[in-house]
Amino acid sequence: MKIAIGGLSIESCTFSPLLSQEEDFKIFRADELLENYPFLQTYHDVSPIPLLYARALPGGPIEADLYERVKQEFLQKLDENGPLDGLFLHMHGAVSVEGMEDAEGDFISLIRSKVGKDCLIAASYDLHGNVSSRVMDSVDILTAYRTAPHIDWSETLERAFFLLVKCLRAGVIPYKAFIPVPVLFSGEKTCTEWEPAASLYRKIPGVISGDEVMDASILIGYVWADEPRSSASVVTFGLDREKVQRAAKYLAQQFWDVRSLFQFGVKADSVDNCIQIAVQAVEQPVVISDSGDNPTAGGAGDTPYVLERLLALGITDAVVASIADAEAVQRCEAAGVGATVKLSLGGKLDPIHAKPLAVEVRVRSLQVLPWTLDRRKESSVMNHIAVVDALGILVIITERRTPYHRISDFSSLEVDPHQHKIIVVKIGYLEPELKALAAKALLALSPGAVNQDTINIKYHKINHPMYPFDPDFDWAP
Ligand SMILES: [Zn+2]
Repeated sequence: MKIAIGGLSIESCTFSPLLSQEEDFKIFRADELLENYPFLQTYHDVSPIPLLYARALPGGPIEADLYERVKQEFLQKLDENGPLDGLFLHMHGAVSVEGMEDAEGDFISLIRSKVGKDCLIAASYDLHGNVSSRVMDSVDILTAYRTAPHIDWSETLERAFFLLVKCLRAGVIPYKAFIPVPVLFSGEKTCTEWEPAASLYRKIPGVISGDEVMDASILIGYVWADEPRSSASVVTFGLDREKVQRAAKYLAQQFWDVRSLFQFGVKADSVDNCIQIAVQAVEQPVVISDSGDNPTAGGAGDTPYVLERLLALGITDAVVASIADAEAVQRCEAAGVGATVKLSLGGKLDPIHAKPLAVEVRVRSLQVLPWTLDRRKESSVMNHIAVVDALGILVIITERRTPYHRISDFSSLEVDPHQHKIIVVKIGYLEPELKALAAKALLALSPGAVNQDTINIKYHKINHPMYPFDPDFDWAP
């Protein structure tokens, strides 16, 4: 069987002025693309054909020109390699493109028109994807992560591919059901490690039954995209039309029934209150999520607001990881280790949500490390990093927007997060290693493009009624 592989993955925040450009993407082609999917080796009856897979750290909308180039190359490769038995799409589901709505709908519907109706298309999605009817009209199979944090990302890719091959081998096209659920929350309120999402997601295996209902997905959606398709949804497929519909309706109803219970899993408070709670805590370290500027949700990652408040409150033992500012890193490099430098730090990438902070720092160390574009693959692009001391507060300044989610991200800079009272990370819910690190975890409702105060976001395009923006309305799937 000839199965082509490719896709486009980025979570893009339409409230960020920071357009995602070519340098933000890692584009996989040929063998390098296939290496992302080690499970392919177990399929002896499949000839995998690498097309193009573009992935980036979450950010703002993709530049229109770049999207067009990626799309055209993808479509051209489809032309060169057709006809196909199957197509495996590695997607995120929350792509936004400058000046366009429903980017995945555009991308996948064009692909469908190229490959024709006889080619089976399977897509692997992040559960923070916003699914549209246009997408569902174009795919045969769509399956999404069942965990947030996404510890099942590789399992999900494997499942999508397995289901595609299974349908191809059997020569069947499954029935599918798609129900948008008019609920829209942030990932931080819908983490599957706590209720009600934990119990909701545990209901998925119960509706899957052999070939009749082959798979089911619950998608939370992506709250920082002002588009008509933004909402939660349920997707099911299988060979028994009625059972596929029933399974989707059941999960959608279950989702709707718990809508009022979604909440932050740790104490959430203003930045100042989080700092005060951390200072008074007997345990150490206290990890504070600078959630409004989380680069892995689409924030700029350069807002210096929490640092500003730590300094204003006289805190002398904390680590701030991190602030993206290429210019500041250059100034530190020019001054050298041990030198004192006056910086105008951060607040440059996203001027809507932040302004630079004037601060005097001592350069503690300088490094050039491979840029961890995401946690899954090391990039060949280098990232210049300065660790500086601002009145006792260690600040990690990076040339590129960089998440600090693993202990090794800190230890590679000779910073031991266990030895400090307060660790500030630009993140929402904590990834597993940070969760293990935190003697106490707090979620700071900090400013930024991915502000967790979502109820006050000014949307123009989302559908109404939508819970919790419209708190009182009846709905049934
Ligand atoms: Zn996600």
